Amino acid sequence: MDTSEVDFLIVGQGLAGSLLAWHLMERGRRVLVIDDNHATSSSRVAAGLVNPLAGMRFNAHPRTAEWLAGMHRTYDEIARTLRTAPYFHSVPMRRLFRSPEQQRFYRRQRENPAAQPYLAEPFGPDEAGSLLRAPHGGFWQRETGYVTLPRLLGDLRAWLRHRGALRIEPLPFDRLAIDTDGIRMGMVRARHLVFCEGYRVRSNPWFDWLPLQPDKGEILRLETSQPLGREIVNGAHWLVPLAEGGYRFGATHGHRQIDCRPTPEGRSRLEQGLGQLLSDVQGIEITEHQAGVRPATPDRSALLGSHPQMPRLHVFNGFGARGALSIPWHAGRMSDYLDQGTALPSEVDVARWSNRR
Ligand SMILES: Cc1cc2nc3c(=O)[nH]c(=O)nc-3n(C[C@H](O)[C@H](O)[C@H](O)COP(=O)(O)OP(=O)(O)OC[C@H]3O[C@@H](n4cnc5c(N)ncnc54)[C@H](O)[C@@H]3O)c2cc1C
Repeated sequence: MDTSEVDFLIVGQGLAGSLLAWHLMERGRRVLVIDDNHATSSSRVAAGLVNPLAGMRFNAHPRTAEWLAGMHRTYDEIARTLRTAPYFHSVPMRRLFRSPEQQRFYRRQRENPAAQPYLAEPFGPDEAGSLLRAPHGGFWQRETGYVTLPRLLGDLRAWLRHRGALRIEPLPFDRLAIDTDGIRMGMVRARHLVFCEGYRVRSNPWFDWLPLQPDKGEILRLETSQPLGREIVNGAHWLVPLAEGGYRFGATHGHRQIDCRPTPEGRSRLEQGLGQLLSDVQGIEITEHQAGVRPATPDRSALLGSHPQMPRLHVFNGFGARGALSIPWHAGRMSDYLDQGTALPSEVDVARWSNRR
């Protein structure tokens, strides 16, 4: 592909930039993705957990059914096109109550039509198996699983590279020239520039006014000689069994130190959490400890749209802790918007924050 003239220059090959590029290229648009070799990629460290009922109160977002449909459609389509194994693994989830109060939230959600499709039967403390500590019992969830994000991002990287649609380098902000017809970056001319930089959007000169609340997370990979079960367990922390063997265990949340460095404090919080979740941690080995930053927002809604004064500059970001589930559907909406001018859903349109400028 001749990359000197493109329709869309996309900054960031995390899950957001990769899926947006996929949607636009499937429509025949010319795309160039630029990424600094995942220097600060949250997608590369994420467990890819898909959980339709977020938070302490087990709330379902009003668009959960649409997100799930978009997610299955997109990951299946990519796997089919690239002739590879599925990226989404359907795995049942045991949700553990952390307090008696959460039992009340569960009973309330059982009456809520928005949450009902994702809730199954409760279980008592003595029905959780001898390995789990579940003093308040819990319940089974439906429509849960995980996405193998490192493999998906690696495959999409190879797919983009094969089409001459990928550059591995930091965006040279000082070499960008923007005019009414588009953007010039060295020899490349683009009609539009879309920023998918994850939490680093907060230092983007055109979008630093967006109200990002970066949320640092640390996560472990575990190997064990004793089987820990084949279901996802989700209490104060979560344990995800991987199809290829081993487990991901996470994650911490932190708002003070925003960087991608794993810390001794994070590791010890996770080790403590593992001890609170399992009655026996003998024989469990930590084989990897990683950190990343979730691009979270104060209203827990994503950030899609255009710069209020510079209509060639766009942003696709703010997916917080739920990128694996929600990015595929949003990538479809963003490509409709960029390609056909279809209005964005108002709850994610960055216009809601434009009074901050
Ligand atoms: C510990 C942890 C666990 C998580 N677990 C889950 C989970 O189980 N399920 C889930 O759904 N979500 C999870 N998340 C959240 C998930 O990672 C995010 O929702 C999602 O990956 C965000 O994707 P993104 O593409 O917006 O950002 P990123 O993945 O951060 O991608 C941004 C990319 O842009 C690049 N970049 C930035 N600036 C520039 C620049 N100037 N020039 C060139 N390249 C640049 C970065 O290096 C990176 O490659 C977790 C996050 C963390 C930290």
